[in-house]
Amino acid sequence: MGVYIGLDVGGTKFMAASATRDGRILRRMRADTPPALEEGLELLHAMVAEVANGETIQAIGAAVGGPLEWRTGVVSPLHQPAWRQVPLKAIMEERWQCPFRVDVDTNIAALGEYHFGGVRASRFLYLTLSTGMGGGFLVDGKIYRGANEIHPEVAHQSIPYRCSNPAGVQCECGLPDCLEGLISGNAIRRIYGKPAEALSPSEWSEVAYNLGMGLRNLAAILAPDLIRLGGGVALGGGQAFLEQAVQVMQEHLKIVAAPQVELSPLGYDTALYGAIAAAIYGLED
Ligand SMILES: [Zn+2]
Repeated sequence: MGVYIGLDVGGTKFMAASATRDGRILRRMRADTPPALEEGLELLHAMVAEVANGETIQAIGAAVGGPLEWRTGVVSPLHQPAWRQVPLKAIMEERWQCPFRVDVDTNIAALGEYHFGGVRASRFLYLTLSTGMGGGFLVDGKIYRGANEIHPEVAHQSIPYRCSNPAGVQCECGLPDCLEGLISGNAIRRIYGKPAEALSPSEWSEVAYNLGMGLRNLAAILAPDLIRLGGGVALGGGQAFLEQAVQVMQEHLKIVAAPQVELSPLGYDTALYGAIAAAIYGLED
């Protein structure tokens, strides 16, 4: 039998869970992300041991922030500054003697929605709107990869935007006009001087408008069947925020049919479930 382990390795917290072959979670835990690399790796090993609880580990899957190389498993997550060119796959396979599969957190999250969130769509786009913004695009359940297997960066697109404080618009990638620089949690703090949960209705409307224009571009270019949104800003804004954004998208889409757009039913566990899916089903074609 044995168990499958999923790891969500984030900049503020680590989550781990063990699951059966059909994805039923057996044990889970979470911990704050240590700043140092060695401590972080030791914590991951301890969490794997804890959730495995003595069972044979069949495979481990992990969601890590980009950039990373999924085949070699060398990771350099942007929001964990001590982690640069870490050969995580080699380290974990050496320690645990089982396959270790890792990919960018948003790709892994898309897999979580697909396998454990009831997605039936052939062309499925998952977007996360939290501290930053990113996405993962699946075609028939397979991760779409760009040239040289790079991860497409859907948040770094330009849109015509509405903003009551345009001087605050700046993307962390260095460009002045990215969608992420308008609607991510960090962007909201820069522009409005407060966290998303403190936005007024008119400020939420600006964010919804800008999200809607981004959705319009993605819908027109990718023509997905379904777009799902997760992450603290999207889930915090909730259904009313989403409906405003969808209305903007629909008003600006003329030729391509509007896709279904909905909030993630898995909430904050999307990447953890995806990591379990990566362990069970793998990432190869
Ligand atoms: Zn950018």
